[in-house]
Amino acid sequence: MLEALKEEVCAGNLELPRHGLVIWTGGNLSAIDPQTGLVVIKPSGMPYEDMTPDDMVVVDLDGNVVEGARGPSTDTASHLYVYANMPHVRSVIHTHSTFATAWAATGRPIPCCLTAVADEFGGPIPCGGYATIGTEEIGAQIVEHIGDSPAILLKQHGVFTIGESIDAALKSAVMVEDVARTITFAMIVGPIEELPQEDIDINHDRYVNRYATAAASRGVHA
Ligand SMILES: [Zn+2]
Repeated sequence: MLEALKEEVCAGNLELPRHGLVIWTGGNLSAIDPQTGLVVIKPSGMPYEDMTPDDMVVVDLDGNVVEGARGPSTDTASHLYVYANMPHVRSVIHTHSTFATAWAATGRPIPCCLTAVADEFGGPIPCGGYATIGTEEIGAQIVEHIGDSPAILLKQHGVFTIGESIDAALKSAVMVEDVARTITFAMIVGPIEELPQEDIDINHDRYVNRYATAAASRGVHA
């Protein structure tokens, strides 16, 4: 069942190590099928290099395995909570990517001190509170604190991103790590300064309403 979505979810998961966002078996990506309400997610504890579409696990929104020989990711309950409470979300990603997770370790949001942060995230990248892995608590932190950002840090844990497509969630996972790395180095160079709200809004509007639209119409990922 859901063979096409299983292929997309497997391919999406393989993008995580390709972009250096995960090591070993860490991290996970899922996507929901809006017709059936079923979710396809990475299996638990499986090396990326061995992963095929057939290894993906299909679960319902209650967490019951509908199809799959392997157990679903340990973060499944978090993903399902997001889908159940944020109906526009089609894909959820979790990583411990190094620089973003360094910020998560401190419990501090990533400040909006670059146009790239304003563009992609529309403001500071929020940090939710600490929550127990394997429960809905993480999902509840995401839903409560993510706001309009496509990415959120979880205190002393890592990163979650959401998107209306797998590509959108992947892009945010790549971008949050990229800006976290740049800002971490910037703080070695000298003090950082947050952009005024007016400039955040101008950049975000240009990016979302003009740049992204133009890029999409050319068939490229903005
Ligand atoms: Zn984690």
